[in-house]
Amino acid sequence: MEFENFIKLRTNNFRQKEMKKFKIVTFGCQMNEDDSNSIRNFLLNLGAEETKDSEKADILIINTCTVRQHAEDKAISLVGTLKKWKTREKKIIFSGCAAQRIGNGFKKKFPYIDYVIGAKSYNRIYDILLEEMGGKDNKNTEIKKEKKVFDYETILRGCDLKCSYCIVPYVRGNETPKSFKEIIESVKNKASEGVKEIILLGQTVNSYRDKKEGKDFTDLIREISRIENIKIIRFLSPHPLFFNSKFFDEYEKNPKISRWIHLPLQSASDKILKSMNRGYDIKKFKEIVGTLRNIDSKTSITTDIIVGYSDETKDDFKKTLDAVREIEFSGVYCFKYSPRFVNKNPLTITKEELEKRHNILLDEVKKIAKKILDRKVGSIEDVLIYSKKFGKTNTGYNCCIIDNKELKDDFLKVLITEVKNNTLYGRRYDEKR
Ligand code: SF4
Repeated sequence: MEFENFIKLRTNNFRQKEMKKFKIVTFGCQMNEDDSNSIRNFLLNLGAEETKDSEKADILIINTCTVRQHAEDKAISLVGTLKKWKTREKKIIFSGCAAQRIGNGFKKKFPYIDYVIGAKSYNRIYDILLEEMGGKDNKNTEIKKEKKVFDYETILRGCDLKCSYCIVPYVRGNETPKSFKEIIESVKNKASEGVKEIILLGQTVNSYRDKKEGKDFTDLIREISRIENIKIIRFLSPHPLFFNSKFFDEYEKNPKISRWIHLPLQSASDKILKSMNRGYDIKKFKEIVGTLRNIDSKTSITTDIIVGYSDETKDDFKKTLDAVREIEFSGVYCFKYSPRFVNKNPLTITKEELEKRHNILLDEVKKIAKKILDRKVGSIEDVLIYSKKFGKTNTGYNCCIIDNKELKDDFLKVLITEVKNNTLYGRRYDEKR
């Protein structure tokens, strides 16, 4: 059953007797954000009220991440603080990837947790919430939905690849795509509610395929761009393995495809890439970047890098540093390697060395990002308007518009005049998109 219909069916004529309050705490990636949004809408549909104050919440949902040990530790330490908060009436739901990894054993450690729902049985949370909300008194609750300029759309869950450091395929399972029709319908709904920028999500988002319909990722982008109100289509995170000439042709023809591409590199040493089981080498990665920038020289590339992966030598790290300088990423999420599997690919450098390499990379990334931003002064950028005087360039930068006139258009061409605190400032340029 299509997910939106599933939600409608489950919440239809089902209103709670007393107004319950809920709070959602989300850790990790945008996919978790998207899942939390679905849970939020589901509860709002049932007439519950969201609160930011844990003290006032009747239901606390902790949507967790396990990609790095640190993320998991943060969620666990939050649970540790809830013992005093917990009463028989107040419910704690521990969901998501860490819940999947740790499983029900978690309840032994924290018996006051009511439910542990792993990422693979994500839909079970709706049955539990229905039960917890209770009652069939049909209050005609008015749902106040936050008006959003951008929204996420998860198009596939899970991953068929097995990068050696990554726990995701084990906690989220194999790749499961949504149907082409369901995605289009959902994006149309979002567009009719005012969404202008849609961010497609998937662990390897560009491997998307609806086999039944014979549609792939590029077909999906093309179809979404036909939805008039959608002005920008972004996607997270593509994998270098799944770029192809069909996509590049579309990138050339279709101005709705965001010019901000987040393309995870992880390391620029071929030895390390091989050991990570990433399936590409640095040459292939640079070719993709080159093709994107040949098509549109403004293309802004950001990336993920893991510092200090097992057996990373000083020379391997230098290769990564050199590539960061050469490619000129406009942003890099730098992660310190955190082994997720016992007896497999252990950390082979000291914590001090790991810290040192991480800091060196961060410094370099900051310098490059500043250089790129400074070069923007004098350029004309396409800016999607988010609010009265604020927008985002289609290359992913925040932009304040110094202009007295109210901003009515969706898109403006803006002449950048200044850069302050990683934000561009500019004036309306006299030409409509
Ligand atoms: S492609 Fe991404 S999600 Fe899949 S195994 Fe590799 S790092 Fe993990």
